[in-house]
Amino acid sequence: MKYSLVDIVRSQVEKASGYLKVPAHVLKILKCPMRTLKVTFPVELDNKVVECFHGYRCQYNNALGPTKGGVRYHPEVNEEEVVGLAALMTWKCALLDLPYGGAKGGVICDPTKLSEKELEKMTRRYTAEIMPVLGPQKDIPAPDVFTTSKTMAWMMDTYSIFIGHAEPAIVTGKPEVLGGSKGRKAATGKGVAICTRELYSKLGKSLKGATVAVQGFGNVGSHAALFLQEMGAKIIAISDSTCGFIDEKGLPIIDIMNTCNENNKYLIEYKKLKACDKNDILSHEVDILIPAALENQIRADNVNEVKAKIISEGANGPTTPEADGVLEKNRVDVIPDILANAGGVVVSHLEWVQALSGLYWEAEEVNTHMERSMVRAFNKVWEKSREVSVSLRTAAYIVAIERIAEVYKYRGLFP
Ligand code: NAD
Repeated sequence: MKYSLVDIVRSQVEKASGYLKVPAHVLKILKCPMRTLKVTFPVELDNKVVECFHGYRCQYNNALGPTKGGVRYHPEVNEEEVVGLAALMTWKCALLDLPYGGAKGGVICDPTKLSEKELEKMTRRYTAEIMPVLGPQKDIPAPDVFTTSKTMAWMMDTYSIFIGHAEPAIVTGKPEVLGGSKGRKAATGKGVAICTRELYSKLGKSLKGATVAVQGFGNVGSHAALFLQEMGAKIIAISDSTCGFIDEKGLPIIDIMNTCNENNKYLIEYKKLKACDKNDILSHEVDILIPAALENQIRADNVNEVKAKIISEGANGPTTPEADGVLEKNRVDVIPDILANAGGVVVSHLEWVQALSGLYWEAEEVNTHMERSMVRAFNKVWEKSREVSVSLRTAAYIVAIERIAEVYKYRGLFP
């Protein structure tokens, strides 16, 4: 069964609610998004045909501060997906002790079929359409699937033109020359690797020689692979939307990244290895599986094929509720998305702080801060899961939702 992302997230909140010590009205508030803006706008394509695009920006909850979340370009973007992703951002920011609520945006399009000029026009017009809800103290976008630092530069420039001055704090994940933070590009994947290392250490095991499969070799998947390899693990299987590669001796991650990721190429264009079916990756015999593509990848129909004993969720919502139940029964440790992939928003927060203050940090400071935040959050989730005897996912939801409830206790309700 295919779940909408919002169904996945709601069922996870439902599961955690039995253990939560929070007032019923807080749960009621947290079940629905605060606001979702739907926009439709025209763009003249290179062939002079005018196409209408549909986009969204959902601000799920802002109890903790301005809302924060990426913008996705994909043919399957829809309102339920955007709302689900915005809810995940809300829990993620709360879990990581960030002063942010959660948001997400998206435009229904196939970015692989648009020229750079068309992508720029679409991005600028989308930004103009969602201007009323954006702002460095209101809602701060960032990159997600098929959006990059270049997309963020167009968004920042468009916003700045409307308000009459350069505003680097309006987006994160920008190019460094525009005020982007050192370490942001690699942060999400690095955070995935750090959480995996922490779990291994709690289990009394070493990452040295541990075998890894990574589904999705984009920003998150490739950096998770790179850092896990640096930590001693062996990356033996990877895939993207075009194909997969498997090599039991270990894959040349840096060379593949230099050939593909740095040049916007797909894995199928890497000719030094024999390609396999991308769907072989999830079921490959490995110690650690990193789903880092899209939601709904580990489902009731394929969960029993998963051989890994540890799953570290680089993607948002890759596991359906049914599959989650099976993994728990099969004693697979799952580091949930709201923890595993939070490294990106931690560094986004640092980028926002740097932009607001005009003081820029060295990579070492950024990375040290990010690692400390990730380890602290991991430990909180680990301890909660032992204390209440629940999965890491349920524990992460308990920690996140209790923080938001604590804030509501002091802020109260208006009027
Ligand atoms: P990306 O566009 O850089 O990479 C996505 C990758 O997934 C691409 O390699 C694509 O080819 C691949 N893919 C798509 N469908 C696939 C399939 N069926 N099988 C195998 N591979 C497939 O995007 P990203 O920024 O790396 O984001 C990936 C996931 O991580 C998303 O769920 C996103 O929401 C989440 N995430 C991203 C960030 C970030 O900082 N970029 C932060 C937190 C979470």
